[in-house]
Amino acid sequence: MRIDLLTLFPEMCETVMAESIIGRARKKGALQVCCHQIRDYAYDKHSRVDDAPFGGGMGMLLLAEPIAACMDSLLEHLGGAPHTIYMSPQGSVLDQEKVKELAGYENLVILCGHYEGVDERVLDAYIDEQISLGDFVLTGGELPALALADAVSRLVPGVLSDDECFEEESHFNGLLEYPHYTRPAMWRGRPVPPVLLTGHHAKIAQWRREQSLLRTAQRRPDLLKKANLTEKDRAFLEKTQGI
Ligand code: SAM
Repeated sequence: MRIDLLTLFPEMCETVMAESIIGRARKKGALQVCCHQIRDYAYDKHSRVDDAPFGGGMGMLLLAEPIAACMDSLLEHLGGAPHTIYMSPQGSVLDQEKVKELAGYENLVILCGHYEGVDERVLDAYIDEQISLGDFVLTGGELPALALADAVSRLVPGVLSDDECFEEESHFNGLLEYPHYTRPAMWRGRPVPPVLLTGHHAKIAQWRREQSLLRTAQRRPDLLKKANLTEKDRAFLEKTQGI
């Protein structure tokens, strides 16, 4: 997969995407990430990329033309038709289902807004969908774009190593993940749940499933409505939680 980020802060994006799991995946060629400076496509001698909104009001807007020129140059370079996203608090709120869907594309192009946002016409002309990180407002689209790029990247084959499995993680199967423990078996008077030390794989798997169900029922009961539950799961929830 290739992810292109259009931003006024490519160094910030590049720094984050060069670290840890994503950085290693890029080095070994499992993932390509390219950060593009919108300002490089400004058309006046001051490299201006923003202006005041028509109709008045607070703040500045990103100009349509530098973004369009940056997009045109990228689209010409890519040849194909990528899926284009604008990060916006007005978009649909990101969840793991959307992340899975986006991981199916060969190429994502993500536009990061700034100031009061972006001239609406460039969104109409180039953007397939708008995605929000949540019902709050950030100063720019970089952090949400990086969160989206990170979440999508870890589902791309070859990005996670074999022992970094995502299929049991929270939200992947509609439930929250069970709790984890590592050495020592006793820490400051707190023991690890004894079943985890038995080496009995079936009992450990059952305990983990039950913990996952309990956590979800207690912390995010809304998720249970859509989760894929077995008869055994339902019986356990009824017995322990009365639901
Ligand atoms: N005036 C805009 C509004 O009220 O909808 C908010 C602009 S915000 C200060 C600047 C930029 O940050 C946006 O263009 C967007 O790219 C990004 N942004 C802010 N909050 C976001 C969120 N919750 N999810 C995704 N992007 C966000």
